[in-house]
Amino acid sequence: MGVFTNKDFLDHEQVVFCNDPATGLKAIIAIHNTNRGAALGGCRMWPYISERDALQDVLRLSRGMTYKSALAGLGLGGGKSVIIGNPRSDKTEGLLRSMGRFLESLGGRYIAAEDSGTSVADLKVMAEETCHVAGIVEKETEGGGLRSGDPSPSTAYGTFVGLRAAVSQGLGSSDLEGLKVAIQGIGNVGYRLAEHLSQAGAKLWVSDIYEDQVRRAVDQLGATAVTPEEIFGLDVDVFAPCALGGVLNDQTIPALRAKVVAGAANNQLAEERHGLALMKRGILYAPDYAINSGGIIDVCYERTGFDRQRLSRHLEGIHDTISEIFDRSKTELLPTNVVADRMAEERFLSPSPIPSAA
Ligand code: NAD
Repeated sequence: MGVFTNKDFLDHEQVVFCNDPATGLKAIIAIHNTNRGAALGGCRMWPYISERDALQDVLRLSRGMTYKSALAGLGLGGGKSVIIGNPRSDKTEGLLRSMGRFLESLGGRYIAAEDSGTSVADLKVMAEETCHVAGIVEKETEGGGLRSGDPSPSTAYGTFVGLRAAVSQGLGSSDLEGLKVAIQGIGNVGYRLAEHLSQAGAKLWVSDIYEDQVRRAVDQLGATAVTPEEIFGLDVDVFAPCALGGVLNDQTIPALRAKVVAGAANNQLAEERHGLALMKRGILYAPDYAINSGGIIDVCYERTGFDRQRLSRHLEGIHDTISEIFDRSKTELLPTNVVADRMAEERFLSPSPIPSAA
């Protein structure tokens, strides 16, 4: 298995292979870029079919984190880690502690957070061995209570803010009253986004592969349930993907009737060219890593001293970032995903002053 020759090993700084026969840990940590600060990104546990798949995943994901954090104006670089194994059957305290020791050995160049297959509880076990984990501290809520380190509420709020910016640009109104929104995936982020939209007066259509998730949105928010197949072609104003990656592709783009795509899912475009395909159809696409950056912003503030007001202001800033992407897309006649990449690269390739704390 080649590393330097891997097509996804483009400009990574460091890739670490972690092997601990005593606990069965096999993991890869990829640090893409640390120009703006320590590389922060999730630690995923997944039963990869091959080591090549694991390497490809961690290289792509770590690169994506550099772009996301830079565009969000954070003093963070991009990194990610993957543990090869089944999170339901292979996860043990010894394995998690071992991962913690590998994190510690990197001296803070990489900081791990929760991801698919790992939980806040798992990160807390790793934290027994290292301080280089994030997203585990309870935070004050608006109501004065405490919530877990889970960044989903901030991701959902940031997505709501970005969706408003997209609606303002694409439909010419920032009033969400009566706006028709189709949400694919009504889980941690999707449901909270639905709550914000419902409070703002929007009408909702929802789909999920789990009936109970859909039922909650129907019962609590008055949403209309549709099947996972129907969600793409609905006569709505906004399509909000909040489930899987790759949902904007050759099959779904021609079916879309929404004028705006704005949702939280990562890697929504099956391929980069699909950004152009959306543009050609006159559909305004809010780039995924720009609109869903609320989670990384939340985690960053946890590390630099949690301050709810400053966090809120930073999340509100997603509006301006999304609007700037749309403005540049119009003047430069480029798809929004290409503009977002360029803006991120301008921020992490050229050393510029990074705002304090964030
Ligand atoms: P989640 O697992 O809580 O919710 C995803 C939901 O999508 C689940 O209810 C699942 O059943 C549903 N789903 C899966 N396949 C589906 C399909 N084909 N059709 C309809 N529904 C389907 O995950 P989440 O934390 O809400 O994250 C949602 C998306 O947002 C993911 O792509 C994630 O990578 C991205 N994201 C999440 C965060 C965060 O803070 N949680 C941050 C950034 C990006």
